[in-house]
Amino acid sequence: PTESSSTTMKLSVIGCGYLGAVHAAAMASIGHDVVGIDVDARKIESLAQGHAPFFEPGLQEILTAGIQSGRLRFTTDMAAAQGAAVHFVGVGTPQQKDGYAADLTYVNAAIDGLLPYLSPGDVVAGKSTVPVGTSAELAPRVEATGATLVWNPEFLREGWAVQDTIDPDRLVVGVTPGADGDRAADVLRAVYHPAVAKDTPFIVTDRPTAELVKVAANAFLATKISFINAMAEIAEVTGADVTQLADAIGHDARIGRRFLGAGIGFGGGCLPKDIRAFSARAEELGRGESVGFLREVDAINLRRRERAVQLVVESLDGAVYGKKVTVLGAAFKPHSDDIRDSPALDVAVRLHGLGASVTVTDPAAIENASRAHPQLTYVEDRDEALAGADAVIVVTEWDEYRKDLDPVQAASLTEGRIVIDGRNCLDAAAWRAAGWTYYGMGRP
Ligand code: NAD
Repeated sequence: PTESSSTTMKLSVIGCGYLGAVHAAAMASIGHDVVGIDVDARKIESLAQGHAPFFEPGLQEILTAGIQSGRLRFTTDMAAAQGAAVHFVGVGTPQQKDGYAADLTYVNAAIDGLLPYLSPGDVVAGKSTVPVGTSAELAPRVEATGATLVWNPEFLREGWAVQDTIDPDRLVVGVTPGADGDRAADVLRAVYHPAVAKDTPFIVTDRPTAELVKVAANAFLATKISFINAMAEIAEVTGADVTQLADAIGHDARIGRRFLGAGIGFGGGCLPKDIRAFSARAEELGRGESVGFLREVDAINLRRRERAVQLVVESLDGAVYGKKVTVLGAAFKPHSDDIRDSPALDVAVRLHGLGASVTVTDPAAIENASRAHPQLTYVEDRDEALAGADAVIVVTEWDEYRKDLDPVQAASLTEGRIVIDGRNCLDAAAWRAAGWTYYGMGRP
């Protein structure tokens, strides 16, 4: 047998969204035999035919290769999980409709659906981001089958998901202390053998710590972004420049420059709902005050969207009604087509609500955006979107806008020369030199 066949394991991945589809394809790419399972028949059909159902750099390639190798398949039939040594659960944990807490309906349904197909010795590895205490709730049902439940939170970044899955910064596995937990941790070491061979930190801990590591990481990242955005608010009333401030404090290794980009704030399917779910869970535990600052982090973040809208209004002398505003970006961040809680689209929708004639363009997210907000006008081609604009606002820092958009050429397309840099990603001096009135976030 070849080296790869000696390390091949049978895996199932329940939930094939941004996390699960990438996980399934990535696990096949490192030699495992993988079945991906989802209740969404359209998504499964697309995946089974080798078409990535969303945009994620590198996914299409490993999906095609996996299917051609015969080691990767997709189905809606939970029975296909039977016989797998490890079952990864990566279904959604969205914010509840009527509150801040996480909706665990999908996790419960996935676990219950899986139970009949578990065998003694199987490992069920939760990957979804869940409130601390969730695995303790789920464990009795799973462990009644003779399987072992571990929590193995996922830290991938959309836009870098393939790389982050195959070669993560660290792996965290929460197990119940004891022989069974030790064995389960060894099973996961075998699954992630290429990363383990590279000495990637592999942290074995208890289940509540593993659950908490994930929400703590996201709470920290959200706080870092809102911290610099709070500084931007102060800069705005003092004439200071938050980007220079970020550079200066970022030289301190204890602070670091990354994630200190002031702008319209964070969004997406993770950070906003994860900090809210953390607040809700802390309150349930009688420790609401311990993470009370997360409410402030959320509030600062949402204020920045309003500030961007205000800048557009100010730049057009208070009269946006009927003005053509071109919105560059729709995805919540570059290299993704994900528009869940996208600050970019939120700004576009608010401007539309004020009566502006809003045209949105994005290299990847137009299809998703137009489904969610059909009232806006969408144009695929960036330059066509810019034509005749009274004002331009950059809300997603795609290279197409940040690097490739020449302010001189842009000026030849638009009606007005007003640019609002919602991500502080443009070269302000170059835009000003080309005749534009430039507005940044927290910059003079
Ligand atoms: P998603 O909405 O893209 O995917 C969730 C998938 O689960 C959907 O395809 C849905 O149809 C499927 N599903 C729901 N119920 C099911 C069931 N009973 N059986 C099988 N499939 C079912 O969400 P996502 O972004 O992939 O996130 C999934 C989880 O991973 C969440 O807990 C999220 O917080 C966490 N997470 C996401 C990321 C990310 O960047 N997207 C990163 C780390 C962690």
